[in-house]
Amino acid sequence: MKVEDKFDNKNRKSDLLKDYVEACKDPSFVKLITKLKVKEDVAKKYTSKFQRTICELNNCKNCKCLDDCKNPSKGYVYYPRVDENIIQFDAIACKYMQKEIDIKKNSSKMLYEPASIRLASMKDVDKKDKNRLPAIKWLIDFYKNYKSDKHIKGLYLHGSFGCGKSYLLAALFNELSKDGYNTLICYYPELLRSLRDSFGQSFDADMEELKTADLLLLDDIGAESVTAWSRDEVLQTILQYRMDEELPTFFTSNLTIDELERHLSETKDNIDKVKARRIIERIKQLTDDIEIVSDNRRH
Ligand code: ADP
Ligand code: MG
Repeated sequence: MKVEDKFDNKNRKSDLLKDYVEACKDPSFVKLITKLKVKEDVAKKYTSKFQRTICELNNCKNCKCLDDCKNPSKGYVYYPRVDENIIQFDAIACKYMQKEIDIKKNSSKMLYEPASIRLASMKDVDKKDKNRLPAIKWLIDFYKNYKSDKHIKGLYLHGSFGCGKSYLLAALFNELSKDGYNTLICYYPELLRSLRDSFGQSFDADMEELKTADLLLLDDIGAESVTAWSRDEVLQTILQYRMDEELPTFFTSNLTIDELERHLSETKDNIDKVKARRIIERIKQLTDDIEIVSDNRRH
């Protein structure tokens, strides 16, 4: 080693020591290295990284929700772990991020649905309202039968706004997702917007997912503005595939099936009854039809 290198090395060591002694004036720093049980000569090398951890933990103390997060990696803390005298730093999920992760683990893949729907569960379904019992009974039967037959019919569940259609089907889907099935729920009007925007990029992959999911729910069909493209290229393609493969497919709508037929026939500058009829025939083959007549639960 050259003389200058030795000198540099010594300088570096004394800087490390200085930083370390300075950092030890902070009780949180001392608490952290005591907890990790590392020797001082090892700890000295990681002073600035430990300080980053402490700074991130302090951010967490005053944080109220994920959107408040001030850490560089949103929802995570850079946290040390001792591995045979070497210190590794992992990104550990904060309590808010962990909650999100748990929700995802226990629920279906959902696109554009609000949290109340993402959290729906069969055990929380309110069974007091008699008007909804036929639908609930249908769901329970489906849940039992699906285990032994993967090619049973889905449901076209319609009724007025806020009567709990999305909630009920999300509860069933979440239950089946916990059992390991690949379930997909899409808020249909928003799905179309996103497919249109992704055209040429993720469009093919997204369509593949919609076609092949074990169970698919198109939530709120009839609330979209119909175009020839959305009806004949998107919806027709998905339904044709799922019908051929006999994959359970579900819909919720504020419209009866006849009203949906009328809705699908009308695009901005055309009326095409034949194309609409073709879709309706697919839906009828894919589903049973149940209406819920019930109060609006959105208060
Ligand atoms: P719809 O899809 O028919 O318009 P939603 O399923 O969105 O109605 O239900 C409206 C609100 O009522 C949601 O906030 C949902 O969380 C709640 N809700 C609906 N059904 C139930 C239920 N069976 N048990 C508990 N909460 C429910
Ligand atoms: Mg809904």
